[in-house]
Amino acid sequence: MADAHATTKFDIVILGGGSGGYAAALRAAQLGKSVALIEGDKLGGTCLHYGCIPTKALLHAAEVADEAREAESIGVLAQLNGIDAPKVNAYKDGVISRLYKGLQGLVSSRQVTVINGWGRLTGQNTIEVDGTTYTGDHIILATGSYSRTLPGLEIGGRVITSEAALGLDYVPSSAIILGGGVIGVEFASVWKSFGADVTIIEGLPHLVPNEDESLSKALERAYRKRGIKFNLGDRFSTVVQNDSGVTVTLESGKVFTADLLLVAVGRGPRTQDLGYEAQGITIDRGFVIVDETLRTGVGNIWAVGDIVPGLQLAHRGFQQGIYVAEQIAGLGPAPIVEANIPRVTYSNPEVASVGLTEAKAKELYGDVDTIEYNLGGNGKSQILGTQGFIKLVRASNGPVVGVHMIGARVGELIGESQLIVSWEAFPEDVAPLVHAHPTQNEALGEAFLALAGKPLHAHN
Ligand SMILES: Cc1cc2nc3c(=O)[nH]c(=O)nc-3n(C[C@H](O)[C@H](O)[C@H](O)COP(=O)(O)OP(=O)(O)OC[C@H]3O[C@@H](n4cnc5c(N)ncnc54)[C@H](O)[C@@H]3O)c2cc1C
Repeated sequence: MADAHATTKFDIVILGGGSGGYAAALRAAQLGKSVALIEGDKLGGTCLHYGCIPTKALLHAAEVADEAREAESIGVLAQLNGIDAPKVNAYKDGVISRLYKGLQGLVSSRQVTVINGWGRLTGQNTIEVDGTTYTGDHIILATGSYSRTLPGLEIGGRVITSEAALGLDYVPSSAIILGGGVIGVEFASVWKSFGADVTIIEGLPHLVPNEDESLSKALERAYRKRGIKFNLGDRFSTVVQNDSGVTVTLESGKVFTADLLLVAVGRGPRTQDLGYEAQGITIDRGFVIVDETLRTGVGNIWAVGDIVPGLQLAHRGFQQGIYVAEQIAGLGPAPIVEANIPRVTYSNPEVASVGLTEAKAKELYGDVDTIEYNLGGNGKSQILGTQGFIKLVRASNGPVVGVHMIGARVGELIGESQLIVSWEAFPEDVAPLVHAHPTQNEALGEAFLALAGKPLHAHN
């Protein structure tokens, strides 16, 4: 609860303390603004407590399990004796709690006023929390998203969303995952590594359907090899649950049974009943409509993060928060290019990309050149025992417009790719840059050598 005598007037009042909201608060405070950050749950939001961090901790535990399983094949005499789920959770929660403490310290050291409570927009400059009205010259809406479900698919019992999946204190013996997007594919990877029998159901024709088709197909091959089952291009129809499990029927009539059904069909914007529409803010299918500068068009009200249509990613939220804070402070920052925001699926194998898929590049540029560099020719990938490739897309005789990768740890390679695509570099500019040997990063260098017409460890 806020102190009744504390100030309630600020330069900026932010509703929601997740990636978008807290990044805006930290940057605005750095720029000398007085900031109130209103959070009903926990500072750090979905990403820190129920999203990026806990899932990646589980994925790391899954990677260790896989390594233990494979250890003997490279002469290390270890074996996997099982998964202690409560202990895995304790490790995951430890990571979250250290980061949470760090964030709380940071926010307090920048003198951001944190208000714990659920807020509502009550005017163009006001947000009310538990009967107290906070006034800001500017308001930033950053209320994030929630796990969606489908009509007729009730969450409860054995039908769970990612929040409950993160809290399970046991490994299900079998699971059906509805949705083959990032979240579904990541949980499938974790549970398979932990020993579960996993089936993904996806209504579209491919897993990770927003990625370049070549990556989707490669992930499908890798999952088939790992024994992760998937059923594509067929939609959910009904679910029945009882004491022994769940039975899911698809529109085609196919039936699947398992211990659990994880619903991972996307995230909906949290904008209902918060007073947004009453203030004249345009809402479309739940999302807050903004212009290129993230203004809502109503007073000095801005919006950032998952409530804004586009990629629902934490790093997009961070950058949008910084961008809005800098605009409010009059710094005139350059707008964010949505197409150049990197995307990573942290499954085994990882999928990472930035820029345009080949199909989108063709729509935009007509002629494109592409190249696939196989990780089989990369020393470090051989050492790690990973398969995969890097695919580059360039506008014909033009800059690199897309980089797409699959393989162990390729998420760590996306930084360089992001610079290349954002800076509209030509392959000929990148090819002479020296990459350390033997790294996986070197595979990117080799791919650019090949695209520039001078492949080294690859056939012409
Ligand atoms: C399982 C999972 C895995 C993910 N993995 C990744 C990943 O690896 N990488 C990545 O980039 N992204 C990932 N994401 C997405 C990422 O978590 C979101 O994109 C990011 O959290 C969005 O930030 P945000 O600030 O818009 O919203 P949120 O982080 O959702 O924060 C919004 C905050 O607002 C608060 N709030 C809402 N309404 C009110 C109100 N009325 N009053 C007060 N407070 C309110 C909420 O309590 C919440 O804390 C993942 C998401 C999930 C669910």
